[in-house]
Amino acid sequence: LPNFLRFIGVTKDARTAGPGRRLELFTKGCIRGVINPCQGCFNEETWTFEGQYREMRIEEVVKMIDRDAWNRQVTFCGGEPILQAKGITKVAKRLKEIDPSFHIIMYTAYKLDTLMKYGLRFVWVPKYGEAMLDSLKRFTRNWSHNADNTRYEFELLSPEDVKELMTYIDIIVDGDYQQDKRLTQHETMHDGGFIGSSNQRVIFCDLTLDKGELQYLPPQIYNYGLEHHCKCCGHQIHARITYCNDLCEKRYNKRVKDMELIGVM
Ligand code: SF4
Repeated sequence: LPNFLRFIGVTKDARTAGPGRRLELFTKGCIRGVINPCQGCFNEETWTFEGQYREMRIEEVVKMIDRDAWNRQVTFCGGEPILQAKGITKVAKRLKEIDPSFHIIMYTAYKLDTLMKYGLRFVWVPKYGEAMLDSLKRFTRNWSHNADNTRYEFELLSPEDVKELMTYIDIIVDGDYQQDKRLTQHETMHDGGFIGSSNQRVIFCDLTLDKGELQYLPPQIYNYGLEHHCKCCGHQIHARITYCNDLCEKRYNKRVKDMELIGVM
């Protein structure tokens, strides 16, 4: 369990889902989106567990990615991919068996250190809707309910499941999207700048597993760090200045602090 993944869509050659051009897969369903969505979420159609989606068996997903990811760059976003992490683990494992050069990124709104410590548990009550209940039951066998079926407890992932996922995913971008910490001024993220708000972190899974503590990129690496671009938002600016304006400077400094800079990888 499970032997399938649910998507609402796939984009080829996406430039806002990690370094390079990537095959980006949008998973269906976000518990947070249903209950208390992130303000400014750009992907509302992925929230609900009802409505249209495509359910594909693991082997079908693997074949599709092997066919369409011409440069072996793949990103799972959503929605909330962590809900389907067991299926994604199977896909990523199989892809790396086919070709170890696959580079795989996954986004999640949950903090990775918390997931590694506690796994992922969730309580369902009727106001969240039957469709969510049905989906959660299909994502895991580990659940129980009270006598009158008005409260279900799910263990979607154990800490071991999270570590297995990290064995096959190269980078996890964690943290929810927080509009007041938005990094870019464009409607869409600029090429190469693939996190939306400064609280999110770009975490190397293999190094983190090796070292036993989070290893992640300092922001100046993934947000250009080039001359003639604002250090914060990436906009092209005059060569003599560093930021577009005071707001960008403030955002950048806050972001460095938020990211708890640990050194250049
Ligand atoms: S930003 Fe992500 S986690 Fe937040 S509501 Fe949207 S899809 Fe869900």
